[in-house]
Amino acid sequence: MDIKSAEQKVAELHNLLNQYNYEYHVLDKPSVPDAEYDRVMNELIAIENEYPELRAPDSPTQRVGGNTLEAFEKVAHRTPMLSLGNAFNEEDLRDFDRKVRQAAGDDYSYVCELKIDGLAVSLRYEDGLFMQGATRGDGTVGEDITANLKTIKSIPLRISEPLTMEVRGEAFMPKRSFEALNKAKEEREEEPFANPRNAAAGSLRQLDPRIAASRNLDIFLYAIADVGETGVVSHSSGLDRLDEFGFKTNKERRKCSTIDEVIEYVEGWVERRPDLQYDIDGIVIKVDSLELQERLGTTAKSPRWAVAYKFPAEEVVTRLKDIELSVGRTGVVTPTAILEPVRVAGTTVQRASLHNEDLIREKDIKIGDYVVVKKAGDIIPEVVNVLEERRTGEEQDFRMPEECPECGSGLVRLEGEVALRCINPKCPAQIREGLIHFVSRNAMNIDGLGEKVISQLFQEGLIEDVADIYRLEREQLLQLERMGEKSVDNLLNAIEASKTNSLEKLLFGLGIRHVGAKAAKTLAQEFETIDTLMDASKDELTAINEIGDKMADAVVAYFEKEEAIELIGELKAAGVNTEYKGPKPVKAEEIDSYFAGKTVVLTGKIEQLGRNEAKQKIEELGGKVTGSVSKKTDLLIAGEDAGSKLAKAQELEIEIWDEEKLLEELNR
Ligand code: NAD
Repeated sequence: MDIKSAEQKVAELHNLLNQYNYEYHVLDKPSVPDAEYDRVMNELIAIENEYPELRAPDSPTQRVGGNTLEAFEKVAHRTPMLSLGNAFNEEDLRDFDRKVRQAAGDDYSYVCELKIDGLAVSLRYEDGLFMQGATRGDGTVGEDITANLKTIKSIPLRISEPLTMEVRGEAFMPKRSFEALNKAKEEREEEPFANPRNAAAGSLRQLDPRIAASRNLDIFLYAIADVGETGVVSHSSGLDRLDEFGFKTNKERRKCSTIDEVIEYVEGWVERRPDLQYDIDGIVIKVDSLELQERLGTTAKSPRWAVAYKFPAEEVVTRLKDIELSVGRTGVVTPTAILEPVRVAGTTVQRASLHNEDLIREKDIKIGDYVVVKKAGDIIPEVVNVLEERRTGEEQDFRMPEECPECGSGLVRLEGEVALRCINPKCPAQIREGLIHFVSRNAMNIDGLGEKVISQLFQEGLIEDVADIYRLEREQLLQLERMGEKSVDNLLNAIEASKTNSLEKLLFGLGIRHVGAKAAKTLAQEFETIDTLMDASKDELTAINEIGDKMADAVVAYFEKEEAIELIGELKAAGVNTEYKGPKPVKAEEIDSYFAGKTVVLTGKIEQLGRNEAKQKIEELGGKVTGSVSKKTDLLIAGEDAGSKLAKAQELEIEIWDEEKLLEELNR
C-alpha cells in the first residue's frame, strides 16, 4: 500500500471505528459483531505500524471506550480506567510472556481470570461507605451511576473496614435474567437487547434506578484501583482482600507460574464456557506482583502487565457472493449461501444453508450483501442477519425458480411445508443423492465410493439404482478418471464387504422417508429380516415404542411400491444380506448395573475417561445421560472444576459422585 492509499484507508477506518465505538459504548446497541470490530481495529493497527506518521493522537487505537451521555453527572477518575491489549491465539500469549520475561527475568507469576462480558465500573468508598459509582467512559471521565449501582445487591454499601479506596469490577447481567428480560420485551413488542453485555450497560445507564433494580444485575470485583491504605503487594492478595472486605470476586481465578499453565487454563475455558451462568468473552491474564506491574507500566490505552485473550469469534462478517441451489435425496430444493471464506469458531466457512425462500425473505438477504455468520451449536454455519448499512445498491434480489434446477420439472410446495420440492421420481439429482446416501458411512459404508465417483458412474450411465452398484465390473471401473488398478481393487473389495452388513445399514441406506439411522436399527432389531418387515402392517409397526404414525405410514408405503419390491429382489440376488446380525436389544431394567434406568448428568473435567467415553459406558450399562440437572436427575458425576451444575445438584440434593467413584463402579 502506498502512503496515499494508506492515508485514505486510515480515514475510512477512523470513521468506521468511531461509529462502532459510539454505537457500542454510548448507545449500547452495536451494529456489528465484536469480531468485526476487532478485525477493523487490527487492520488500522497494522497500517499505523507500517506508517507511524499516520498514527494520530485521536486515533481509535489510542483511545479507550467511547464518550459519556450528557444525561449523567461526570466523574473524573483518580486512576485512569484502561482497556486491555488483546491476544487471539497461543502465539500472541507467548509474545506477551516474552515481553514480561524481558523485564522480569524468570521470577514472576500470573493470575488468570475470566473476562466477564459486562461493563467496567469503578466504586468509591470513603471511610468504608459506598459513596460513588461510575462507568469507564473514555477512561479519564466516566458517568455517575451511583443510584443504579446501589440496586445491585452484591455491592456492599459498607465494607468491613473503614477504608477510603476505589475498587474496579465488571457489572453484568446473568444469562437467566437476560433471557427473561428479552422474553418480556418481546411480549411487549419492544426490540430485544442484542446480548447480555448491552443489556447490562443499557440498564445501568437509565435515569430511573427502578429500571436497573428490576434487571437483576450482578458484579464481580477484580481490582483495587489504588492499594494505598490496604498494604497489598500482589494482585492475587488484592483479590483475597476484596473477599475479606465483603466484595464478590470471581472464584474461577487461578494463579499460574508459567505461560504453559496459562494456556492450559485458557483452553479449559474454551470448552467449559457454555456451562457458566454468565457470558465471558475471554480470559484476562495479569502479572501478579504489583511491583513488577509498576515496572512494566502502561501505554496510553492499556497496561503492559496484562492481556485479554479473546475466544475464537462465534459471529463474524463476510460477503455473500452467490446463492446456489441443490436438490436433495427427497427432492427438496435448498438454497445455499456461497460466502467469501471466513474463520468462525476455529474453522473456515464458505457455505451456509439458507434453508428456504421464506427465510431469505424474512432476513431480507440479497446477493452481494455483507452478512453476519455464526456457527449454530458451534457446528453448522448460519447467516444471522444482513448489514443493510453496507449496501451499495449493486446487490441483487434472489428468487427461487419455478422449475427443478436439475430436471426442469415444476416445483411444488407440499401442504404444511415451507420447502419447495421436485416430485419427479426420475429426477437425476434425487437419484444421485440417493446413491450417495446408500454408500455413506451410516448406511452401507462403501469406502472409495465418494460423491465424485458416484457422480461419474451415474453420468456414464453405469449405475441407475443401488442394485447396479453390485453389478459393477472391473473393466468399467478402470475406465473412470483417476481410477487405477489398486483403487479399483479396493473399491470392489469394499462393495463385496458391504454385502455382509447387518440389516439396519441397508434399511437406512434405502432412504425410506422419516427412517433415520436410529429408527432403522429399531426396525431391524424388531423384525429381524427384511421379508418380515415388508409384510408388517401399520399396527404392527406402531406397536413398537419408538415408531410413530408418520414413520409407520412411510414404511408401509415404501414396501408397497412395485419398484421397491423389485429392488429388494435384485439386492438379494446380488448376495446382499437382508437379516439383522446384531445383539437382541436388552431392556434397561434387565441390566444388572447401578446405572440401569437412571438419569445421569456429567459435568466438569472427566480427566481419565473423557466425557464421551464416560457417557458411552454409562449408556451401555442402561443409564441415560442428559445435559442439564433437574429434579429428574438421579446422579451427577462432577469432574474437576465443576461449576453451576454442581451447585444446582447440591441444591436439589441429588446424589453426587467424583470421577474416582465413577471408575470404581464401572470397573466392578
Ligand atoms: P476489552 O473488552 O478488550 O477489555 C477491557 C475490559 O475488560 C475492561 O475494561 C473490563 O471492563 C473488562 N474485564 C472483564 N473482566 C475483567 C477482569 N477479570 N479483569 C480486568 N478487566 C476485565 O476492551 P474494551 O476497550 O472494553 O472494549 C473493546 C472491545 O469491545 C473490542 O475488542 C470489542 O470486542 C468490543 N467492542 C465492540 C464494538 C462493536 O461495535 N461490536 C465496538 C466497540 C468495542
